[in-house]
Amino acid sequence: MTSLLTTFLNPADASATMLPCHDTDAADLFFSERPADLEQAKTLCAACPLIDECRQGALDRREPWGVWGGAIFDAGRIIAVKRGRGRPRKNRDQDAA
Ligand code: SF4
Repeated sequence: MTSLLTTFLNPADASATMLPCHDTDAADLFFSERPADLEQAKTLCAACPLIDECRQGALDRREPWGVWGGAIFDAGRIIAVKRGRGRPRKNRDQDAA
C-alpha cells in the first residue's frame, strides 16, 4: 500500500510531519475496523491542507479501504459510514441507499 506521505509529499519535506495522518499516535485510526476510529480520523482530516487533493487521489487510485481526504473508502468508492463487524443485512439493497 502506498503511504500517505509518499502519495503527496517528498519524504524530505519537513511539512510532511504536519499531516494529521502522519502522527504516530493517530495513524492507526485511518485504517481501523472500528467505525468510531474512522469518524475520528475524518475529523483529523478536516484540519489538513491537502484534504481535497488527498480525496481526489484516493478516488483516482480506487483505494480499497481507509480514510482519505476526510472520507471513508471501501472498494474504491466513498461511503457515508462504515458498518461495524456483525451479522450482514438480509437485504443488500439497503446498503446502496
Ligand atoms: S486529508 Fe487526511 S488522510 Fe489525507 S493527507 Fe490529510 S490527514 Fe492524511
